Amino acid sequence: MTDLRQFRAEVVAFVEAAKESGIACPAFGAIVPPDMVELSQRWQAHAFANGWSALHWPVEHGGRGLSRAHTTVWYEECARAQVAPYLNLQGYVLAAESIMRSGTDEQKAAFLPRTAAGDIVWCQLFSEPGAGSDLAGLQTSAVRDGDDYVLNGQKVWSSNAQFADYGILLARTSLDLPRHKGISFFLLDMRLPGIDVRPLRQMTGDEEFCEVFFDDVAVPRSSLLGPENEGWRVAMEVLGDERGSFGEAGVISLDQRLDVMASVSVGSGNRTAIATDALADLLVRGGALKAFLQRVDGDVALAPATKLLRTELTSAADAFEAGVRGAGAMLLDDVTNQFLYSPGMRIAGGSSEIQRNIVGERVLGLPREPG
Ligand SMILES: Cc1cc2nc3c(=O)[nH]c(=O)nc-3n(C[C@H](O)[C@H](O)[C@H](O)COP(=O)(O)OP(=O)(O)OC[C@H]3O[C@@H](n4cnc5c(N)ncnc54)[C@H](O)[C@@H]3O)c2cc1C
Repeated sequence: MTDLRQFRAEVVAFVEAAKESGIACPAFGAIVPPDMVELSQRWQAHAFANGWSALHWPVEHGGRGLSRAHTTVWYEECARAQVAPYLNLQGYVLAAESIMRSGTDEQKAAFLPRTAAGDIVWCQLFSEPGAGSDLAGLQTSAVRDGDDYVLNGQKVWSSNAQFADYGILLARTSLDLPRHKGISFFLLDMRLPGIDVRPLRQMTGDEEFCEVFFDDVAVPRSSLLGPENEGWRVAMEVLGDERGSFGEAGVISLDQRLDVMASVSVGSGNRTAIATDALADLLVRGGALKAFLQRVDGDVALAPATKLLRTELTSAADAFEAGVRGAGAMLLDDVTNQFLYSPGMRIAGGSSEIQRNIVGERVLGLPREPG
């Protein structure tokens, strides 16, 4: 199928019907909230059963063998209808794209069709208590022992880990090599003995992410994705996917957000010149970001800039909205929840400071920060 206009019309019809019947999962952003995991999984299964999942993945691995442009249309129309485009980013984008790039035929056959169908939930096991921004400092170790690796250590902030069947994991497999070179990438079965997952409560009251402890976990060698000690390369591609822009879909959801912002009531007693000025400033910033997104058109090299600008704007808008509500912001409702949630988005997937460093060094060509 090459006619994208016809294809788009079919996507719209499918998504609208799914929305009406209640099977479509509402959009949730980057991380599926705990109370929506089941619905999101059912929605993924429904989309797959009807041929609307994994559009650009190879046919032999559960996909439809279409182009990335078809997937982009799917993202755009899901954004327009405000439904989730997939079960979760960790599985559908991060795990699946890295398996497609670096997996063996056995790994592709074992994981891709089930991920496309929403049969398995994935989490991302990269960050550690002492290794977030400085990810190469990770200490979790995987030591070869016959046909297994013995895994010991701890991960943290692992979103959805309490529901996950598998995790994409970074662990140190060599202490002799320079630190970036001694890391390997695993597809970890979360049900293996010796894995202890403990949910952490955020200030919203939800438990979206977890601590994950490994105590002598025997991980089969077949879980290694890509060559031993070359996990850093695989991981950097994953982080590119994580920060990557979804092109026009990003513009559509930003537009929706700007519409909501424009309708925020700074009215009656609160309609002060300062609030109006602040709102105008946010809307102008939003308009500039929209123009920027349209210009970069999904350019992966500029993903750190779009991640930075979008999360900073959203969080400023949430703080503004909470501010104009005054005492009302102390009530726990969707608006307050969003306000409490948004600082996390400036950190997840790499903090704003780190995105600024990347933009400075790789986009603007400024001197590298001192080691
Ligand atoms: C909602 C949420 C979900 C997440 N989900 C996952 C997940 O599923 N899987 C996963 O592996 N991780 C996840 N993370 C973790 C996330 O990737 C890390 O929190 C992030 O990379 C920052 O690392 P850190 O928390 O260790 O902070 P640190 O690296 O300790 O940074 C602390 C502060 O210092 C600043 N800083 C650090 N280094 C520099 C520098 N060189 N220059 C300037 N400033 C610097 C940072 O910007 C930050 O403000 C999640 C985080 C959040 C908030």
